[in-house]
Amino acid sequence: MQNIQNYINGKLQPPLSGEWIDNYDPSCGEVYGKIPNSSEEDVEEAVQAAVKAFPGWSTTTVEERSSILLKIADLIEEKLQFLAEAESKDNGKPISLALAVDIPRASSNFLFFGNAITQFASEAHESVGHYAINFTLRKPLGIVGCISPWNLPLYLFTWKIAPALAAGNCVVAKPSEVTPMTAYLLSEICIEAGLPEGVLNIVHGLGNTTGQAIVKHPKIKAISFTGGTTTGEHIARTAAPMFKKLSLELGGKNPNIIFTDCDYEKMLNTTVRSSFANQGQICLCGSRIFVEESLYEKFKTDFVARVKAIKVGHPSQNDSNLGALVSKEHLEKVYSYIEDAPNQNATILCGGKKVTVEGYENGYYLEPTVIEVKTNQCKLNQEEIFGPVVTIMPFKTDEEALSFANEVRYGLSATLWTNNLNRTMHFSNELQVGVVWVNTWLMRDLRTPFGGMKDSGVGREGGQEALRFFTEPKNVCIQYS
Ligand code: NDP
Repeated sequence: MQNIQNYINGKLQPPLSGEWIDNYDPSCGEVYGKIPNSSEEDVEEAVQAAVKAFPGWSTTTVEERSSILLKIADLIEEKLQFLAEAESKDNGKPISLALAVDIPRASSNFLFFGNAITQFASEAHESVGHYAINFTLRKPLGIVGCISPWNLPLYLFTWKIAPALAAGNCVVAKPSEVTPMTAYLLSEICIEAGLPEGVLNIVHGLGNTTGQAIVKHPKIKAISFTGGTTTGEHIARTAAPMFKKLSLELGGKNPNIIFTDCDYEKMLNTTVRSSFANQGQICLCGSRIFVEESLYEKFKTDFVARVKAIKVGHPSQNDSNLGALVSKEHLEKVYSYIEDAPNQNATILCGGKKVTVEGYENGYYLEPTVIEVKTNQCKLNQEEIFGPVVTIMPFKTDEEALSFANEVRYGLSATLWTNNLNRTMHFSNELQVGVVWVNTWLMRDLRTPFGGMKDSGVGREGGQEALRFFTEPKNVCIQYS
C-alpha cells in the first residue's frame, strides 16, 4: 500500500479528519494506496500557511525564486524514471508516454517559468505632450488556488503551479483525486529543493469537498482550473460573486480537417497519434475527423488499417501503444457512447470492444475505436467523449469543413492538413478555437498563449499570459514639470 500525505506548511501530514480514499491502479483495477480525504479544516490550515509565507516569498528577489524553481526542474529531471513509473501506474498511461511527454514537460514547466520570471518586464507609457510617464507595477496576487485534472497529472499540475510561484504568489493546490501520486512526489521534491514552508501547499481530496473549499475560500484571490466544462461552470458560479480572478481551461471536441493537398503520410501518422495518444484522454485530441470527399475512401481504408494495428496492453510494457483508461467510471462513460452509436445512425469501423489483458483481467482497457458518422449534429460529434473514440465524415467544400468545425459548443483547438497558404490563413482566421495546428499536432512552445474559446474556457495561460494572470497590474502616472 502506498499512502500519500498532504503537504502543508512545508510538512507532510495526514488529513485532520483521519479519513482516507482508495487509490486504484487502472491497469489491474486494484486498490494500491490511500489518499487523504481532506476537509475544509485541512484547506484552512493550508491557506493559513500560505498567508504566513506570502510576505517573505513575495519579496524574495527574482533570482532567489528562479533558482529554487530551476532546482525543482532539475530534481524532476533526475527522477524521470521513478516519476514516469509512478505516473503510469496511477493513470494507466503507457510508461513510454510518461517518459517522453508527461515528466519532461513537468520539468520544463519549472525550467521555463523559472527563467521567464527573470525576463518579465512591466510596461511604461510616456504621455507625450502632458509631461507624464505611466508605468505599470505587476504585483503577485497573494494566495492562489490551482486545481488540475487526471489526464496529464504532473504536467498540468506544474503548468499552473510554476508560473504562480514564479510570480511571487503562495499556492494552495489540489490534483485530481483519481491521480494524486505524482503531486505527492512533487511535494517531496519541493522539500528537497528547499522551497520555504507554506509557499506551496498540496491538499488531496475530492473535488466537491476539498476542491470546493479552495474555490470558496475568501483569502484565495484567483483560481486556475483545468477540467471539465460542467465543473468549470460550477467553479465560476462560486468564485464570480467574490470577484476572484479566474482562468478556466475546459473541455474540447476538436476538429481535425484533412485536405487532399496535405502531406499524406505525415498526416496519417499524426492523425493516429492525435486521435489516440494517452487513450484519447487529452483535451487537445482531434476527436472529429473531417476529410475532403475525394480523399475520404482512401483515408478511411488506411486509417482503419493503422488503428487496427495499435496494441493495447499493460502500461508498463514498452510495446503497448495504448494503456488503460483512468477509472472504471470513465471506461463505462466512454463505452456508453460506443453502445449508443447505432442509435446515432453511425457505423463502428473498427474497435468498439473492451479488452482483456492477460494477467490484468480487471483493468480498464478499451480498443481504439473509429466511428463513421452521417451528420455533425449527432451526439458523437457534439459531446466530449474523452477516450479512444474518434469519428470520421467527409466534406465537400472549404466552407462546409469550416462550418462543421465551428458547429459545436467547444472551441479549444483545431488541426488543419493542407499545403495551401490562402486556405491556411482563411481557416486560421475563422476557426473558433484558441489553438490552431497546421500540418502538426500537440507541438508546444511554452511562450505561446494557451486556452479555449466558447465552452472550452476563459482566459489564457502559457508564457507571459500566465505571468500576467498571476499578477495584479497597477498603473502609476507621474507628471513632471
Ligand atoms: P473534472 O472537472 O471532473 O475535475 C478537474 C479537477 O477539479 C479535479 O481535481 C477535480 O477533483 C476537481 N473538482 C471537481 N469538482 C470540483 C468543485 N466543485 N470545485 C473544485 N474542484 C472540483 O475533470 P476531469 O478530472 O474529469 O478531467 C477531464 C476534463 O478535463 C475533460 O473535460 C477535459 O477536456 C478537461 N481538460 C481540459 C484541458 C484544457 O487545457 N482545456 C486539459 C486537460 C483536460 P476530483 O478529481 O477529485 O473530483
